[in-house]
Amino acid sequence: MTAESAETGQGSKGTIRVLQLYPRDMNIYGDWGNALVLKQRISWHGYTPELLEYNVGDEFPAGVDLIVGGGGQDSGQLIIQDDLQSRAGRLKELAEDGTPMLVICGLYQLFGRFFKTHLGTVIPGIAVLDVETHGTDERLIGNVKVATDEFGEVLGYENHSGQTTLGPGVRALGTTAKGTGNNSSDGQEGARYKNVVASYLHGSLLPKNPAIADFLIRTAAERKFGTFEPGAPDDRFAVLAREHAARRPR
Ligand code: GLN
Repeated sequence: MTAESAETGQGSKGTIRVLQLYPRDMNIYGDWGNALVLKQRISWHGYTPELLEYNVGDEFPAGVDLIVGGGGQDSGQLIIQDDLQSRAGRLKELAEDGTPMLVICGLYQLFGRFFKTHLGTVIPGIAVLDVETHGTDERLIGNVKVATDEFGEVLGYENHSGQTTLGPGVRALGTTAKGTGNNSSDGQEGARYKNVVASYLHGSLLPKNPAIADFLIRTAAERKFGTFEPGAPDDRFAVLAREHAARRPR
């Protein structure tokens, strides 16, 4: 096998390496499903997925094409905080360089400047995103519908005590048509910066929102290979999941 075919795999358009951040401590409400959707859709598009995990204390892998991270309890966020700080430089560099990333809820908060929990503990973030989060005694729980310019209607489920405010360095993912999103005052949900997509939505998010999955994959492929040649994904279950999610009451 030549070096090139070893890299691309037999009959594959190339390998896309997906890194999941802290799946041991930050992985609630099925957020692991986001990594599985990326793996499946990368295959459907004719590329070879390689799924890697990064947990506290691990060596940070080289050559990562796409990063995904989930939500967690405040306790999980406390467990990872020091390790995350030690990786701040690397993650910021990757984000600034345009690496596609999806961060959900607890990691969305910690990709911001800080999360002050409802008990008053300040967990510093890595400031990839110009946002800050303040915990309250009210939990925001339920199904969410978000109107977005980039990805159409985004559907998911939220459960968080933190309320996030966006600074001028980011834009919102969208505006909430059902549910709360970032906070109980401005009707916005999630954040967008470069190729980073941040959202409060679990469910998991990507099985119901393949447009976001394909944005991440397309961006990863274009960055690595200069072009993205889409395949023919089987969206039957995604369509059913969206119909079902859209019908759910708040
Ligand atoms: N612990 C954070 C909060 O309650 C994040 C929760 C989550 O990831 N679902 O706001």
